[in-house]
Amino acid sequence: MKKFIFSTLCLACIILSCRAKDKVTQVEISDENTLEQRTEPQYLTLLFAGDLMQHGVQYKAALQPDGSYSYEECFRFVKDEVSSADVAIANFETTLAGGTPSTYPQFNSPDEYLLAIKEAGFDVLLTANNHSVDKGSKGICRTIEKMDEAGIPHIGTYVNKEERDREYPYIIEKNGFRIALLCYTYGTNGIPVPAPHIVNLIDTVQIRKDIKKAQSMKPDCIIACTHWGTEHALLPNKAQRDVANFLLREGCDHVVGGHPHVVEPVEVSTDKEGHAHVLAFSLGNYISNMSRPNNDGGMMLRMKLTKDAETGKVYLEPGNADYCLTWVSRPVMSKHKNFRIYPANVPETMLNATERAQMKKTLTTERELFSKHNKGIEEYEPIVAGTDAH
Ligand SMILES: [Zn+2]
Repeated sequence: MKKFIFSTLCLACIILSCRAKDKVTQVEISDENTLEQRTEPQYLTLLFAGDLMQHGVQYKAALQPDGSYSYEECFRFVKDEVSSADVAIANFETTLAGGTPSTYPQFNSPDEYLLAIKEAGFDVLLTANNHSVDKGSKGICRTIEKMDEAGIPHIGTYVNKEERDREYPYIIEKNGFRIALLCYTYGTNGIPVPAPHIVNLIDTVQIRKDIKKAQSMKPDCIIACTHWGTEHALLPNKAQRDVANFLLREGCDHVVGGHPHVVEPVEVSTDKEGHAHVLAFSLGNYISNMSRPNNDGGMMLRMKLTKDAETGKVYLEPGNADYCLTWVSRPVMSKHKNFRIYPANVPETMLNATERAQMKKTLTTERELFSKHNKGIEEYEPIVAGTDAH
């Protein structure tokens, strides 16, 4: 922001000259006799993380002597980065059905997991995924109820049609930006969705209606989050490409995917106006106890949206989307009590030799994959909480 120190004598002519300039949208006079010209754009940073899984080993590791669960350590090293975004979004791939927790194939997690995710800085959670119906009606409804109680907006599952009609598409309103968020899953592991509840499925007829509705709400941009793809595959399949092309063609500005439990490439394209569109096929596991190759790797995708000061138009400039890699250390390897998500740039001295070797292996695979297949996007070094690294 440009600042001009002025004297009383030249105040009038400065204001006159400012008014003459089309670019000036607002003129403020501060207490320090400083004239500020708001000619520069505003920004909104969105951060997306992948799948928040919750296997039995994870809730056992979080169990405290008093019977409560503590997940603080899981997010300790990423929370400053997550919190630094204006809006942080992740996929909640379990349910909060209450009672005894349960693991794969029908997840039910302690409520403390949700609270720790909020505490880590996540603002919005996606709930449409293949585990949405793991605990039937109770799982769908109680998960929604607990997120409402915690004040965390959630997108993708609904108690009934009336609720969906009222709440979907979800509009993030932050710092003068209005972002429409859509969320869909390829399926629910063959478990039927009990009436009258709704889990948003990848159904192009319905999605087209939803995009039209989103457009009628006049958002600054539309982002679709998709749960899709082939588990453990490092490259997207044809169905992902087809759905992505459909979403972008119908009016979504960006598409962010998950579910394969490994990262998949990110492609940033530029339209004829020079604005960027992100297609991220899979952000991988953000946290899990999965142990197949690359299941311990994930990524955080960042988009810094621009609001033009003159036109009010919101867009993504090429170069303003980037990603950082994360890696999960499991207690079996670290000998720490709990799981930990580490940004890739964590100081090596914080890891033991086994952890270092395993993290290096996963990161090497991911970086080789991305160097071949990513388009128009670079890796960045995030803040690592509790250290000087960033
Ligand atoms: Zn999934």
